[in-house]
Amino acid sequence: MKMGWKGQGLGKSEQGITEPIKAGARDGKLGVGKQEQDEFYTAEENVERKKLNVEVEETEDMAKKREAESEREKKIKDELAEVRKVFYCELCNKQYKLATEFEVHLSSYDHNHKKRFKEMRDLQAAKTRDDRIRREQRRAEKEMARVTQTELQALRRRNRVLMQGLQQFLV
Ligand SMILES: [Zn+2]
Repeated sequence: MKMGWKGQGLGKSEQGITEPIKAGARDGKLGVGKQEQDEFYTAEENVERKKLNVEVEETEDMAKKREAESEREKKIKDELAEVRKVFYCELCNKQYKLATEFEVHLSSYDHNHKKRFKEMRDLQAAKTRDDRIRREQRRAEKEMARVTQTELQALRRRNRVLMQGLQQFLV
């Protein structure tokens, strides 16, 4: 491969320029200030910076667009979730997209079997709860009766003592 400038242009098919650009070359027709301004705008790092500024502007614009887009997507997702909630069977943990599919499910054997099973279980749980409450009530009543009995016995004992004292006094 040929390297550098030796009469031919750079590149695969020698299509490039045949001479290097002279750094700091001055155009005699331009004043010093104009020349410097010209150099400033054509200097590689300044061209690069201008490009970056354009990119920043585009990015802000794109960020706004993205924000609006994600907000729109969230709204759609929320609406979809609302619609899905309507056709969701919590009992069977099954999601349906269409009202007709959901209705078919509600009248299916599978769903009704689960429903009966759940009702039975709920009933059993309620019965267990009622039994426990009744047991606790019975225990409380017994406890009350026992306390009353003890108090009655104490009262009778005191009365007996009092009566004995009175009888002794009367004798
Ligand atoms: Zn179901």
